[in-house]
Amino acid sequence: MAKKHNYSAGPCILPQEVFQQASEAVLNFNGLDLSLLEISHRSKDFVEVMEEARALVRELMELPENYDVLFLQGGASLGFLTAAYNYLPKNGKAAYIETGTWSTKAIKEAKHVGEVEVLASSKEENHTYIPTGYEVPGDAAYLHITSNNTIFGTQYHSFPKADNLICDMSSDIFSRKVNVEDFSMIYAGAQKNMGPAGTVVYIFDKERLGKTGNSIPAYLDLEVHLKKDSMFNTPPVFAVYVSMLTLRWLKGIGGVGAIEKINNAKAEMMYNAIDENPLFTGHARKDSRSAMNATFRLTDDSLAGEFDKMWKDAGINGLKGHRSVGGYRASMYNALPIESVKVLTEVMDEFARVKA
Ligand SMILES: *Cc1c(COP(=O)(O)O)cnc(C)c1O
Repeated sequence: MAKKHNYSAGPCILPQEVFQQASEAVLNFNGLDLSLLEISHRSKDFVEVMEEARALVRELMELPENYDVLFLQGGASLGFLTAAYNYLPKNGKAAYIETGTWSTKAIKEAKHVGEVEVLASSKEENHTYIPTGYEVPGDAAYLHITSNNTIFGTQYHSFPKADNLICDMSSDIFSRKVNVEDFSMIYAGAQKNMGPAGTVVYIFDKERLGKTGNSIPAYLDLEVHLKKDSMFNTPPVFAVYVSMLTLRWLKGIGGVGAIEKINNAKAEMMYNAIDENPLFTGHARKDSRSAMNATFRLTDDSLAGEFDKMWKDAGINGLKGHRSVGGYRASMYNALPIESVKVLTEVMDEFARVKA
């Protein structure tokens, strides 16, 4: 079957074998002569899916005993609010680092719950870098960061130290090893690196819940979901199932450490192609570059038509940059094979030869 080299920023490429298994389960799940989509979420067959998905997160991220995992709905966008409700006391204050569109939205949502102090922002330079050198105030209930800035192509290479660190990891979760104990809560929309759109994973230290005194609407209360083992209401069964398949695939190829090596090799190949080519220039500062989303542009925009035709002819999809950055964005999530990066970098090299 012909398959494009898919650089889509999200929803994004997933392993081909996962698409195959998912489509089979839609027709006949577990040999039940029923579709995955028409059975009760309380049936033994689906409860096992939810349990395996949660257990795979635990295993792949090496969670300590006091951490737990939920698969909920609302995307990372509802996660912005969920984070604030569960960790920001009404009369308290939360600290945020503003590194792009998603962190700006997280800040806006947290203001529904309490006071927000933005400790540092890269906004003045169109988010080309990850700020450092700020101090977290002692009275901040937590520090919130966005580990990978999907739109601007920047990524934390080391994490700030904070007593209570909350992280939107939507676009680089499972792409590299992290020490979960550095975080009190991690959340991530599935559709960037873990599965299809429709679910968001929450990973958190259970002992830190229930301490704000807030009256939390049930759906936003992580304790409510935890008591019900991620089955407080009907879970997004298809999204959880396909995420579970993708995590199984990741475990099968050697886990997070193994994919990190491949991701680093892909990123190195991509950034070399940008740096060595006189026709292209990168958006993000070198010390802040993302291994997931490489943002770059032509030094001469009038060549865009020709370049676009060339990569499209090579079977490449989804390379256009976000409107707030322009140019191009190569999203190299876990399931993107290194062969696809070879194809793109060869197109870029060939373009330079043609134009020389
Ligand atoms: C895509 C994205 C979001 C928004 O995710 P939704 O699931 O669409 O709400 C939030 N944060 C980051 C870093 C993202 O890449």
